[in-house]
Amino acid sequence: MNYAAEAPLDEREERPVTHPVSYEVEDGIAVITIDNPPVNALGRAVRQGLCDAMDRLADDPQAQAALILGAGKLFIGGADISEFGKPPKDPWLPEVVQRIEDSPKPVVAAIQGAALGGGLEVALGAHYRVAMKGAKLGLPEVNLGIIPGAGGTQRTPRLIGVAAALDIIPAGGTVPAEQAVELGLADRLAEGDPREAGLAYARELVTAGAGTRPVGQMPCPDHDTVALEAARKTWSKKNRGEVARLASIDAVEAATRMPIAAGITEERRIFSEMMDTPQRAGLIHAFFIERKVFQLPELDGVAPREVSQLGVIGGGTMGAGIATAALLRGLDVTLIERDDAAAEKAAATISRNLEGAVKRGKLDGGTRDAILSDAFRTAADYGALARADLAIEAVFEDMDVKKQVFAELDRVMKPGAVLATNTSYLDVTEIAASVSRPSDVIGLHFFSPAHVMKLLEVVVPESTAPDVIATAFALAKRLGKTAVRAGVCDGFIGNRILSKYRAAADRMVLAGASPYQVDRAVKAFGWPMGPYEMGDLAGLDIGYATRQRRAATRDPRDIVPTWADALYHLGRHGQKTGRGYYIYEEGKRGGAEDPEVLELIDKARAEHGVTPRDFTDEEIQRRYMAALVNEAARVLEEGIARRPLDVDVTFLHGYGFPRWRGGPMFWADETGLPALLGDIEDYAREDDFFWQPAPLLKRLVSENSNFASLNG
Ligand code: NAD
Repeated sequence: MNYAAEAPLDEREERPVTHPVSYEVEDGIAVITIDNPPVNALGRAVRQGLCDAMDRLADDPQAQAALILGAGKLFIGGADISEFGKPPKDPWLPEVVQRIEDSPKPVVAAIQGAALGGGLEVALGAHYRVAMKGAKLGLPEVNLGIIPGAGGTQRTPRLIGVAAALDIIPAGGTVPAEQAVELGLADRLAEGDPREAGLAYARELVTAGAGTRPVGQMPCPDHDTVALEAARKTWSKKNRGEVARLASIDAVEAATRMPIAAGITEERRIFSEMMDTPQRAGLIHAFFIERKVFQLPELDGVAPREVSQLGVIGGGTMGAGIATAALLRGLDVTLIERDDAAAEKAAATISRNLEGAVKRGKLDGGTRDAILSDAFRTAADYGALARADLAIEAVFEDMDVKKQVFAELDRVMKPGAVLATNTSYLDVTEIAASVSRPSDVIGLHFFSPAHVMKLLEVVVPESTAPDVIATAFALAKRLGKTAVRAGVCDGFIGNRILSKYRAAADRMVLAGASPYQVDRAVKAFGWPMGPYEMGDLAGLDIGYATRQRRAATRDPRDIVPTWADALYHLGRHGQKTGRGYYIYEEGKRGGAEDPEVLELIDKARAEHGVTPRDFTDEEIQRRYMAALVNEAARVLEEGIARRPLDVDVTFLHGYGFPRWRGGPMFWADETGLPALLGDIEDYAREDDFFWQPAPLLKRLVSENSNFASLNG
């Protein structure tokens, strides 16, 4: 399989090929075509083919200039990821790009579809670039934990300046053709056939007597201290702990201080350093599992049901977000609310969400208006769902209310329609059993805000028909979500594991750590937020309600964070009330620590007869992660998650787990399961109720195995 690291999956294609790089002369222009399906990745044969083509061009009396093209839909999708981590094979990409740049005859690159990573670096080696409308240009290497390694960090700032290069390279994003031309990354924009557009440009250059224009020979860009510092600040905050983005900024800085050859050597040095980091391995793992998560053997040959009309019941936080996500992806949505006032409120939220999409350039105003007038409606009567193919219930988290809604859905929906619930914790099997068609019922657990968050847990009771599961996965793809299959239990994969490591945090607080230290330590590990900041954001009333719900079945040895109950009763419900664990002041970012909270915790310690002790940040991180991994092992054992990669994807896309650590199960393997088990056994000596090692973890250690072995 010839993977390019950067190309999106839907742009990959299969084509029969004879030689990956062809050379022919048309009307004085050598047309060099890269044909390496599915994405014209820069494998060794392509690199060699490009060098051979450059040799031939130099000696070809028929050719006065050259045009480099990609066959099929893309110019070049990127490096060949299957070569990663292996000894490099000649010719290296930096040499290939240099050979193109050193051509004595002008070289034009015609970019259609995408020029990503090494693909853009090849285009930067050309002397002129024509970008076809719809093409994307970018250097996404940092997303895989490396930096551009074939001159991208040196040529981009020479061409478009340091500030613009820093908008692109550390972000690992792409720019559309129009913007590329505005920035000067491409010289002109064209429409239609890239070969014709490229040939026309090359002929024009020959006629005008334009010579070569090597980007590498352009002067060093100005050392823009302000832009460099701003980029460092942004990326050390945004992707805490991640090294490649910061290293890519160092490489851009090198372009301002060194001649091209030295700059490229420096870029290579940083590139090699990044290649050896564990972060690269984590990011590559994340890249592969995001693709594998959709591969479920049980769905082989199972066709999904057709979905074009969607019903959403409840237009609160989740329902409005789910409706927005569906409308943005071209589905028709009917939203049911309790009364007109609630329906109006939901419609206003959805309208605001769509307006946000217009502001971010994701949607144009005309399409927004068309969506709101033609594809979206609200109703208070369930009869409006008679033609819906799939309905998602997002009403209050209360079993009786949910059952009433499902009775209505059962009554009005057409045969073959899918009935889904967005419940966070409730028993989907019980909901399914309450209707006359349990095989059509499934859980679709979205994350808040539902039009932004990538994760969708597909919660599958025993009774669900295979084509309903297939329909859920197809819908997730259509909505741009990453779907993970989960079994039925309290909290499914993510929230069940979350409640365990949240409980570990509470235990540490009771034993002597402050919630503020826990938040700081957890963030230092790479999580975007600590559990207490997160609680304040979600609302402390939610945690309180969960504790109330579980009170009847709680084991008496379990520890209840009575200080959290006290905060709730004081009306300190988190950010929305201005106070929770932290104090939030109008106009100030983030919250301030509050000694009153520490007093409440001291009181709880006294009640439990606890003498507080000190924790190091490292111990906090280890306990937090040990609780996560141990519970994840149980979730795997019980078949709630089928593969460790399902847990990894859940945490990467739903809980902000640092992507460069690959996912919690990947982290566990990297840390070493014997060490983790040892920690848990140590903790169990002081608290054998909470810290029972999961049998799966013990088995893997005794077999000298790891979680990766269970990924299939
Ligand atoms: P919410 O209180 O914001 O919204 C619930 C909405 O449902 C309200 O607008 C209410 O008017 C409406 N409603 C209630 N009963 C109804 C009925 N019988 N018919 C029609 N509409 C009805 O709640 P939410 O946060 O959007 O949560 C909804 C569901 O999604 C819950 O099951 C919750 O557990 C789950 N969920 C919430 C989150 C989250 O972060 N908020 C995340 C994932 C899942």
